[in-house]
Amino acid sequence: MARKTKFVDSDILIIGGGFGGCGAAYESRYWGRDLKIVLVEKANIERSGAVAQGLSAINCYMGMQWGENQPEDFVRYARGDLMGLVREDLVYDIARHVHSTVHLFEEWGLPILKNPQTGRYLREGKWQIMIHGESYKPIVAEAARKSATEVYNRIMVTHLVMDSKRPNRIAGAVGFNVRNGDFYVFRAKAVIVGAGGGSHIYRPRSVGEGMGRTWYAPWSTASAYDLLIPTGAKMTQMENKIVLTRFKDGYGPVGAWFLLLKAHATNAAGEFYEKDRYPEIKARVGHYVDIQPMPTCLRNHAMLEEIKAGKGPIYMHTQKVLDTKEKEEIGWEDFLDMTIGQAVVWAAQNIDPKEKPSELITSEPYIMGSHATCSGAWASGPEDCAPADYQWGYNRMTTVEGLFGAGDTIGGSAHKFSAGSFVEGRLAAKAAVRYVMDHKAEPPQVDDEHIKRLQEVVFKPMENYRVGRNEIVAGTVAPSYINPLQGLQRLEKIMDEYVGGVSMFYVTSENLLNRGLELLEMLTEDFEHIGAEDLHQLQRAWELQHRILTAESVTRHTLFRQETRWPGYYYRADHPKLDDADWHVFTGSQYDPKTGEWKMSKLPVHRIIPGFELLKT
Ligand SMILES: Cc1cc2nc3c(=O)[nH]c(=O)nc-3n(C[C@H](O)[C@H](O)[C@H](O)COP(=O)(O)OP(=O)(O)OC[C@H]3O[C@@H](n4cnc5c(N)ncnc54)[C@H](O)[C@@H]3O)c2cc1C
Repeated sequence: MARKTKFVDSDILIIGGGFGGCGAAYESRYWGRDLKIVLVEKANIERSGAVAQGLSAINCYMGMQWGENQPEDFVRYARGDLMGLVREDLVYDIARHVHSTVHLFEEWGLPILKNPQTGRYLREGKWQIMIHGESYKPIVAEAARKSATEVYNRIMVTHLVMDSKRPNRIAGAVGFNVRNGDFYVFRAKAVIVGAGGGSHIYRPRSVGEGMGRTWYAPWSTASAYDLLIPTGAKMTQMENKIVLTRFKDGYGPVGAWFLLLKAHATNAAGEFYEKDRYPEIKARVGHYVDIQPMPTCLRNHAMLEEIKAGKGPIYMHTQKVLDTKEKEEIGWEDFLDMTIGQAVVWAAQNIDPKEKPSELITSEPYIMGSHATCSGAWASGPEDCAPADYQWGYNRMTTVEGLFGAGDTIGGSAHKFSAGSFVEGRLAAKAAVRYVMDHKAEPPQVDDEHIKRLQEVVFKPMENYRVGRNEIVAGTVAPSYINPLQGLQRLEKIMDEYVGGVSMFYVTSENLLNRGLELLEMLTEDFEHIGAEDLHQLQRAWELQHRILTAESVTRHTLFRQETRWPGYYYRADHPKLDDADWHVFTGSQYDPKTGEWKMSKLPVHRIIPGFELLKT
């Protein structure tokens, strides 16, 4: 079928209008008054990305003006939570800039709760402040809309495009309009990817009609990683998947309950199990168990061991803390601002949190670079504080020239959350503007033949369907193609059973991982025969492809790191202990698009902030 092809030229192309992308649009305009800034988004930036439904807290805020915390404290915290492995230059860079961003949000109309006694922002915990955040995303999107020269909503970006004349240099991206099928070619001098992390790579606990109910947004399809990997960009820490303790089935957040309302979790017998598990955890991970607060993964681990010992369910004792009307409101609003589904689960299961405790459970794994874990691209750090090993050009530029990232895209620096991802978009954009200024006389070179081939590739699933549909045996069963849902379910099963999902209690091993890779290879082959009956299914097909390549990267990194650094996130049963002698390193990978081979490497961990003496023992 003939489709319109539209060319869009820009100085800076931003892919994904979530928190990183919106921050990038805002800051690009500030430094690049005359530049053409284009933002492209597969949904509508008004309500897209992980924050689409709203949030009840900003999880990264220092409070420096009140002497609450300093950026150095935040680095120590992130380092401790990740069991020693964070890019301290990147974490520090975000921590020192996050204030101005949060204050901008307030200026733009975001209601931030105040402590009536002190007049300061109301703290949920040491790093978190409470917001009335139902409209958080539209507020931030408005700033991006006003800053960008053009915003293209409803365009799914499928591939990045490399410069045809200059090796290892970005030139743009291609994608299609999910509503009318137009093919888009974006040419740009610099590209910033903010396309978000990945859900539904692992089989969720809820399957069948419930499978859309996951913690992470089901529309977050790992494009941040898949777009980068085929360019040969170096990736890091892809094995550092996140598993969250949440209210069971509704995935309601636990932060406000633990930190603000001071609720406690116990096993079914009412026992505080974490302290009983201390000796066993110490034997596994050594002194890391003594970090305060205890690293997130270790708290997951204690809970999982308790459940395996038959001492579950684990309960959050909401009924013990809701002793005032105000606290009860906070409890409900926490869900209504960001996870309405949890309130629905309570209603459906006759749970009044004032009367009864609620079950907690660990989620299926997700791949993210901005929450409590740090998968993503290996990026150049800030000039003033990044060690030489971490610096090869512009801040937040990947190992591909002119290709920048923000939020979930950038690896090695966890705990950015919403405000930190916006900050990282700003930092990347400031550097990208400088990159464009420095390379003014070098417009992107795009090969027409390559673009034509990409167009055929992008629409091939529709062609597969058109040719094969008459052979349908029954319902959706067809001999010559699989549909995107079938492919997704196969991917989730492979990752769950071989790469440490919930059905395996997050356990994997070299043999399991190698078998998982064989099965992923077969799935990759079968993707050539995926069928899409309409544009919606075409989007699903490309989302699946983005998940498959990301899954392969996760599997290869998990195989490479021969230790169990983060029990509670995943376990290498063949290397059950943490091994600082050999593995106090970041993992790195580079995919070679010409040969299809992956090169794995160890990347150094440098301390730039003193403290955390525990590591020296
Ligand atoms: C369930 C959950 C709860 C959270 N709770 C909190 C909290 O309480 N407080 C807090 O501060 N932070 C919280 N966070 C963290 C915060 O949401 C993220 O850190 C932040 O959104 C990451 O920003 P990002 O730009 O990388 O990704 P996102 O904000 O998810 O944006 C990615 C964007 O890219 C678009 N996109 C994806 N693929 C493509 C493609 N192929 N083509 C075009 N566009 C594409 C998406 O539609 C989306 O708009 C939470 C995150 C999750 C998942």
